[in-house]
This record gives sequence, C-alpha cells and structure tokens, in this order.
Amino acid sequence: MNDRLDILNIWVDPVNMDQALARVKQFIEQGERPHSIFAVNPEKEFSIPKDPVLYEIFKTADLLIPDGIGIVCAARILHGVRLSRVPGADLMVKICELAAAENYRIFIYGANEEVNQAASQALVRRYPGLNIVGRSNGFVKDENMPELIAKINASRAQILFLALGSPKQEKWFATYKDQLSSVRVCQGIGGTLDTIAGKVKRAPQLWQRCGAEWLYRLLKEPKRLKRQNVLPVFAAVVIFAKLIKLQAQTILNLMESDKVHR
Ligand code: UDP
Repeated sequence: MNDRLDILNIWVDPVNMDQALARVKQFIEQGERPHSIFAVNPEKEFSIPKDPVLYEIFKTADLLIPDGIGIVCAARILHGVRLSRVPGADLMVKICELAAAENYRIFIYGANEEVNQAASQALVRRYPGLNIVGRSNGFVKDENMPELIAKINASRAQILFLALGSPKQEKWFATYKDQLSSVRVCQGIGGTLDTIAGKVKRAPQLWQRCGAEWLYRLLKEPKRLKRQNVLPVFAAVVIFAKLIKLQAQTILNLMESDKVHR
C-alpha cells in the first residue's frame, strides 16, 4: 500500500474493517501467491527492529492492521490521521463470515489440539456452511513440517489462519510461504483461537470501545506485564517524536519567512 504510515520503527495501513475485508477478497480473487496480514501494536515497535528477519517480514507484509489503541493514537499524533481499530480477532471472524458467504476454503493452524478443535467447531456453529477444510494444532515439530505443508496444500485452502503467537507465526509465514500452493491469505491471529474456544475471555465490549482491551488482558493475565511494560515508553517516544517534528517545522517556517523578508 502506498499510503502506509510510518509509526516510529514500524508501519501500519490506514484501513478500517470494511477496507481490510475488501483487501482480503481482492487477495483471494486476484492474487496468485499467499498474502500476509499481521497485526500492529506498540509491543511490536520494540521487538521488530531488533530482529532483521522480522523487520523484513513486516516491511514486506501485504496488510498491516491497526490492532492496538496505542497505534491508533500514535497515527493521530504523528500524522494527524484518524484510524479506527481493526483488532485481529475481529478481522478473523469477519473473514470467516465472508468465507461462509463466498465458500472460501479455510485451514486453521495453531493453539493446542483441544483449543484448535473447539474453536473450529464453534466457528462452524456460528457460520453454518463455513468450509474448514483442514486444521492442525500449533505444536508441530520442524521435522514434521513437510507433512503439514503437504496437508495444507492437499486441502486446497485459500485462507490460512496462523495461531502460533507473535513472532512465531510471522516467522513461520516467511519460512514456508513459497511452499504454499493454494493459500492466498494468511492471517496471524495470535491467541484468538483461545478466546473463540472460550479458554480465554476477551474484554467486554465497553472495555474494547474505550480502547482498554490491553488493560483488561493485563488484569486477567498479569504475566503479560513483561510484554506490556513497553507501553509507557512507547507513549513517551511518540510524544517526543511529535515535539521534534514540531520543532523542525518551526525552524523551517522561520527560515522561509527570513527568506521572504530579505
Ligand atoms: N502456540 C502454538 N504453538 C507454539 C506456541 C504457541 O500454537 O509453539 C499458541 C498458543 O497455544 C496460543 C497462541 O499460540 O494459542 C499464543 O497466544 P498469545 O495470546 O500469546 O499470542 P499473541 O496474540 O499475544 O501473539
């Protein structure tokens, strides 16, 4: 996308849910290769630049959705662009709704066996006619990967959901994308299957609408603090970057007016 926004160290595409879904449809109908969809949130601001492989994976991703409220606020502060959140978990179920309507074939890879099975069944119950052509738990050993790839290709799945957590799912995509023959859309969905299966509870709507889903998750799973303690640093760096931008703009304006007066 050429209107991709730079948010400090990484990027985000300025799409809302409908536009993201339209891109998914386009990837499936017109694409001839697997297209990657990854979620962007502040935690990734710090992990991605440290890892050149991951940095390249995100740089070349086909769709980077504004998953977290931190990224939405940063886009507003740094670029004056009003984004709405496109949470990866919501996009995933919308893709399922689209797939049920268009009869697209889905493969679900990730989470433990019990969760993977329960989530697949729940999705079929929610979207009758949903064509889940294959699934696998997320604990396949490297030496068994050729079998998994053969299974995905034999299923002729057009949509592959990767529920391995980040950055494992992004790295898996980078390693195996060239071996996927039928997949056109591959979305990294992290722990979404755990919420669909009912193992983990998502934040109530009100918390989501207030942009406090991260806080709810933190309260429910305090061990996530290690990952989320980057949030205040992220906020400070965004404000600092904005101040530097304003300062640079003021200097440029002064230089301009100086030129006019001379
Ligand atoms: N997982 C997996 N294989 C692995 C490691 C993790 O399938 O080798 C699954 C795990 O069972 C869980 C998900 O990946 O369902 C990770 O969820 P988490 O909420 O940590 O991911 P996030 O959304 O934060 O990236």
